[in-house]
Amino acid sequence: MSNVKRLFLVIAAIFSTLLMMNTAFAQQHVWQAADGVYRYGPGDGYYSMFVVTDEGVIAIEPVNIKHSQGLLKAIRSVTEKPVRYLLHSHNHWDHSKGGQVFRDQGAKIVAHVEAYEWMKANPHPDLALPDEVWAGNRKDIVLGGKTIELHYMGMSHGLGMTVFLLPKEQIAYIADIVTPHRVLFAIVPDFNIKEWTRTLIEVEKMDFQTAIYSHSHAKEPFGTKSDVTQTREFIEDLQAAIVAEFKKGTPFGKIPSTVKLLKYEHWAMYNEWLHLNVWRVMLDMHMGPFPWRPDHAYE
Ligand SMILES: [Zn+2]
Ligand SMILES: [Zn+2]
Repeated sequence: MSNVKRLFLVIAAIFSTLLMMNTAFAQQHVWQAADGVYRYGPGDGYYSMFVVTDEGVIAIEPVNIKHSQGLLKAIRSVTEKPVRYLLHSHNHWDHSKGGQVFRDQGAKIVAHVEAYEWMKANPHPDLALPDEVWAGNRKDIVLGGKTIELHYMGMSHGLGMTVFLLPKEQIAYIADIVTPHRVLFAIVPDFNIKEWTRTLIEVEKMDFQTAIYSHSHAKEPFGTKSDVTQTREFIEDLQAAIVAEFKKGTPFGKIPSTVKLLKYEHWAMYNEWLHLNVWRVMLDMHMGPFPWRPDHAYE
């Protein structure tokens, strides 16, 4: 065998190994929701979404540098098209770090102005400040014949909370305000319970069949609108159970250890977090809705 032929065979073997590794990676961490629409999650508890069009890729939710590097690899396992946009769902550090990975690819980083203002005031070395901000309740991004609607939900969780909707594909990307098959997040940080319930009702009215959630404890990779309804009903059931204890005269400090919601016993973190959920929702009922800010502060 000539040296040239041998070299060719070695190169071919390297390429096919790389291709196989890429395919294995994609099979483990990437789920296709529709033509050109994918969910990505490396098992770190966070899921992102990406949309492939003829003119490039739109990625939603960078999470952190490592997650973003994996997300870029996942994108590269299905297309060589350039990443044109990276979109943020809201301000929090645990969702919004890692954007530089996509900026290095030439992507434009986009966030609602409320999220941007917070990011600017609360810098983090791993957080790349967005290049483009938007205000108001709605923005559409159209790329390569695909449309993504950005819906600003107002006060709910964090700042600049945006729900993403692909109207043609009937797919939504929803961060933090719904986590299927899990009780509310720990001490329910940075949620305004009253506005959150209002937000969930608005999301229930949106037109979609499939949802990709930033966190999920469901067995299935894709959720539906019923997950939104179940979250709202959980909050309402929790409030009703607290009111029942108020009426019975149960001492305030004993209510969190008394309330049980057996209907949700099979949900993740029920034993660990239910009493924390009760504390937070009970204090909200006692003190009034918080955190709160004047409406349209950034319009
Ligand atoms: Zn958050
Ligand atoms: Zn989250």
